Amino acid sequence: MTPALFADLPRELIEQFDESGSETVSFSPAASGQRVSTADYTQSLSALAARPEEAVALYVHLPFCPVRCLYCACHTTITHDGERIDRYLDTLEREMDLVTARLGRGRTLTQLHLGGGTPNYLTDSQLIRLMEMVGERFHLGPDTATNIECNPRRASASQLELLKGLGFTGVSFGIQDLDVRVQHAIGRVNSLGLVRDVCTTARETGFECISLDLVYGLPNQTLASFESTLERIIEINPDRIRVFGYSHHPASRPHQYAIETACLPGADEKLALLHSAVRCFTESGYTWIGLDCFVRDGDELADAQAAGRLRHTALGYTCAPTQHLLAFGASSLGEVDGTFVQNEPNVDAWRKAIEDGRFPILWGHKLNAADQRRHRAIAHLLCNLELPASLMSGLAGDAERLARCAAQGLIELTDKGLKVTHRGRYFLRSLCSQHEPNLAWSNHHWGEPQTSGSQTS
Ligand code: SF4
Repeated sequence: MTPALFADLPRELIEQFDESGSETVSFSPAASGQRVSTADYTQSLSALAARPEEAVALYVHLPFCPVRCLYCACHTTITHDGERIDRYLDTLEREMDLVTARLGRGRTLTQLHLGGGTPNYLTDSQLIRLMEMVGERFHLGPDTATNIECNPRRASASQLELLKGLGFTGVSFGIQDLDVRVQHAIGRVNSLGLVRDVCTTARETGFECISLDLVYGLPNQTLASFESTLERIIEINPDRIRVFGYSHHPASRPHQYAIETACLPGADEKLALLHSAVRCFTESGYTWIGLDCFVRDGDELADAQAAGRLRHTALGYTCAPTQHLLAFGASSLGEVDGTFVQNEPNVDAWRKAIEDGRFPILWGHKLNAADQRRHRAIAHLLCNLELPASLMSGLAGDAERLARCAAQGLIELTDKGLKVTHRGRYFLRSLCSQHEPNLAWSNHHWGEPQTSGSQTS
């Protein structure tokens, strides 16, 4: 049943919410249709090389899992061959050399994020090797936020100890749902006891930020079952919780055919599930950040949101003061000096390009002045839920659509600019993606839920 907050909204809008999923906002190859050449990317890296004081964020994609979850929307490979991962690390090292040959070594990192796939599927020696290759080429300081996405089932006490020793300060566990019927339907079973234990161990090991990822819209999920999951998650008391929507696209993700469509919640139910998560978490003292993130009081993201310093990148919300994101590994998506690039998702194609001495770029887009205005406006909207008149030019040409959103009660338009209403916040994803023909929700997922978006392992 549609929550009363949305009762008078047109059907079309509810369906749009259902379709918007959880993908990361970025320039999509299909929408932009532009290719950035190696020369373009080299130019961007060289321009950044001339400004050594500017720090960067770094993402490494590790596309390996021992088994495929049925809801998965990530770029990953199922393998039990450790040598295959070793070979991947060999190529990753060469890719880092390609970039640092232009950028130089020793650039300070504000953020390091390992996503997948299942990053903690790597063995101890592979994890040590990976961190050594990063450490040899970049500077990780005390202020670098270092995070790894982990499958709780694989995170032993000794592995968490190792990760802490390697410098990780944050760990994200992909939980998705704690209901047994839902877990069986998605092929990912983690008991409440296991989740509770791994979080306790991570806390005792000294991780500063423990984040749990949930997914709404999964098969067999009901409002009652999801609320039970939410209550148990609150008892575990993570520092952050991210809540992603499941997108069912079996034509492009054939493993999803194993999920019975009849067991999936409809658009109204999905909206009710998210509404319930917002209510439960905010009533329990969490602050709702932007689209899909909830943090405890005192979290730097809450402070940044309150102070208007919150930023949004392909890695999600951050207060790291940089927009540059170097991305390594097959399918990874980066942004350097206003140029977006996505690597080849196919590991063989990615490797071949690097072995030939080329950047393994599948597509790219260099922002022109109009793109930059739009990008700034959308990023501001995603973080601050409002747009001052000074940034409204970024949405030039969208007057008709904005007026329709205002009539639907999703935004308020005044001479001071635009403000997203409480109910409009639930539609922020589609609201932002609709306003930019080039800016679309990419089908790339950064880490967890891999519902898509960057999540879970
Ligand atoms: S959802 Fe995550 S853990 Fe599951 S198969 Fe996909 S990438 Fe691997």
